[in-house]
Amino acid sequence: MRPRRIGLTGGIGSGKSTVARLLAERGARVIDTDAIARALTAPGGAALPPIVAAFGPEMVDAQGALDRARMRALVFRAPEAKQQLEAILHPMIGEATDRQAAATPPAQPIVFDVPLLVETGARWRARVDRVLLVDCSETTQEARVQARSGWPTEQIRQVIHQQASRIQRRSAADAVLLNEGLDLAGLATEVDALWNLGFFGVPAAIRL
Ligand code: ADP
Repeated sequence: MRPRRIGLTGGIGSGKSTVARLLAERGARVIDTDAIARALTAPGGAALPPIVAAFGPEMVDAQGALDRARMRALVFRAPEAKQQLEAILHPMIGEATDRQAAATPPAQPIVFDVPLLVETGARWRARVDRVLLVDCSETTQEARVQARSGWPTEQIRQVIHQQASRIQRRSAADAVLLNEGLDLAGLATEVDALWNLGFFGVPAAIRL
């Protein structure tokens, strides 16, 4: 068995980041594509010059980072701007991801934390051996995001409905970790079960 490359995904509030942390604690290399996207658009980030060239200097805020609120508003008004932004960011995220994966020791399983794995379709599927979905009901998503961020329910629902549906996610997944009716210790037990079953390509110690 060789260590696998796993795509980890889940909707907002599903518990995906918590599962990523538990997997890192068990020895997986976690590559966080959201963090890569943030670094690319932080002050001095490599994605800023092409973004300015495409959308103008007003897309950069006073600190020199991408003005996210302005970009979100533009993407909302003009769907083609979203495609244009993705055409800039996605190849750069892909390259940074590949660099981090190449620098990972061969014995270590790699977990690609990709919130929009299902939304971006075949592009991610081709890079990973298996897709693990962290799943829960929309009611639970809302409750968790509300507790975490205090956002109004309407705003949370809007984000949930912009993302892929539960059915779309489940049909793209090889395994589903149902993070519902579990406390954090229960979630850790589920992660241990997957780990020990060899889902990540790391055999559990054989006990006779
Ligand atoms: P995501 O990355 O999917 O948006 P997080 O992992 O950040 O979700 O989880 C959202 C919130 O819900 C966090 O505050 C996290 O601690 C909490 N949470 C997730 N799963 C559980 C669970 N099984 N029991 C208790 N709290 C949980």
